[in-house]
Amino acid sequence: MSEIKVRFAPSPTGPLHIGGARSALFNWLFARHDNGKCIVRIEDTDLERSSRESEENILSSLRWLGLDWDEGISVGGPNGPYRQTERLELYRQYTKELLASGWVYRCYCSEEELAAQREVQMAAGEMVGYTGKCRDLSEEDCKRHEAEGRKPVLRFKVPQGKVLTIRDKVRGDVSFDCNGIGDFIIVKSDGIPTYNFAVVVDDYTMGITHVVRAEEHLSNTPLQVLLFEALGWPVPEFAHISLILGKDRSKMSKRHGATSIQQYRDMGYLPEAMVNFLALLGWSPGTEDEVFTLEQIKERFSLERVAKSPAVFDLDKLNWLNGYYIRNSSVERIAELAFPYLQQAGYLPEAVNDRLMEKVRLVTVAVREYLEYMAQVVDYAEVFFKDPAYDDPEAKEVLAQEQVPIVFGALQDKLTGAGALDEIGAKAMLKKLPKELGLGGKLVFQPLRVGLTGKTKGPELHHLLPALGGPKVIERLKNALQTRG
Ligand code: GLU
Repeated sequence: MSEIKVRFAPSPTGPLHIGGARSALFNWLFARHDNGKCIVRIEDTDLERSSRESEENILSSLRWLGLDWDEGISVGGPNGPYRQTERLELYRQYTKELLASGWVYRCYCSEEELAAQREVQMAAGEMVGYTGKCRDLSEEDCKRHEAEGRKPVLRFKVPQGKVLTIRDKVRGDVSFDCNGIGDFIIVKSDGIPTYNFAVVVDDYTMGITHVVRAEEHLSNTPLQVLLFEALGWPVPEFAHISLILGKDRSKMSKRHGATSIQQYRDMGYLPEAMVNFLALLGWSPGTEDEVFTLEQIKERFSLERVAKSPAVFDLDKLNWLNGYYIRNSSVERIAELAFPYLQQAGYLPEAVNDRLMEKVRLVTVAVREYLEYMAQVVDYAEVFFKDPAYDDPEAKEVLAQEQVPIVFGALQDKLTGAGALDEIGAKAMLKKLPKELGLGGKLVFQPLRVGLTGKTKGPELHHLLPALGGPKVIERLKNALQTRG
């Protein structure tokens, strides 16, 4: 078999969405599994809705996910340019061919005429579609229309009485009756090709062997196959991957959470968690395992293991996976990721010195097990950067206990002149306290927690002491005692 070559062909009409990212990923996995090639090209024929900003967002999101491509936009290659609006000459060349071979004709029907035709069809209970009114116009008819200032669209002559069967690698055989497909437009009156035409020219000229895309394009596929056949080109293989639904089984939308990759990136999801999660939206490894690197998925991936049924977007699962990756990454990496969030929250100044860097590292050690995504670090880290107010009623009650001054005093004594503490040192120091004071653990540790954080729940004390540092611990305990009145 010739080398596999796939393409991801986004329309730059918005940021890269979950669905688009999954299509890109499945293309990448399918090709790379067999050492095939990937192309990224831009389908920007919708001039009003396309923008360079969206294009950049899509490309940077793809790169962030760890997906690369051998040929295409921003990397170049032998089949460029890779933006459809820069390929108009090429489409024109094939338009001429289709006109000459009689597969395509000029249609001068105005919007109003088309609407009137539809109404007649509806009133008669017929299938709605282009009637073929301009199919057999003579040269004179065309000239007359043009003299009236009408600009034609080009329509493809769909053969009647034909059934097209598409062998879909995910969905199996899918058949389409050509009688149900009206003569469709391949070039608009402004000379811009439609998606169905441009995509065929691109897929052929770029040597695409497999088209892997979202199920919503399945109804376009017979139109594209007709064009491949009319142009005498080999038809690529197809795989249409299922819709993504929200947990309530309606089509995934903003209601179900963030929809763009950028939003997840901004919230502090890790790319490897995102890729892992996206792969499981339709693909199944065939085992109970759920945690895979991109490399591992690539090794196992096949379209046979991609489900026909819709995938369900489960945010809890994404959060679980992301938390898993956060806990299993190096502290240095997570600290670095935490940094901008802490800075934005005003916990860190613009210029950061080594001491603060070390503090962020210690804070990361303390809180990372609680995080599902990095933006949450702001809430969890608050106690390390902001002195507590001690206004929580439950906390006040704890601070009022009679042993509190003795407990605080004992820790202050130990810390005074003790030098920098690490986690092990802090653990050892804390462990001894109850025995030395002749008190139960709860009577010692709960007031200390409240004294240091103003709350009854929070990070481990042996994480708090090193991150706050001796002087800050002493200061907070003093302040807490003062609130006892
Ligand atoms: N431009 C299309 C989209 O963004 C992709 C079409 C295709 O893959 O054929 O949905």
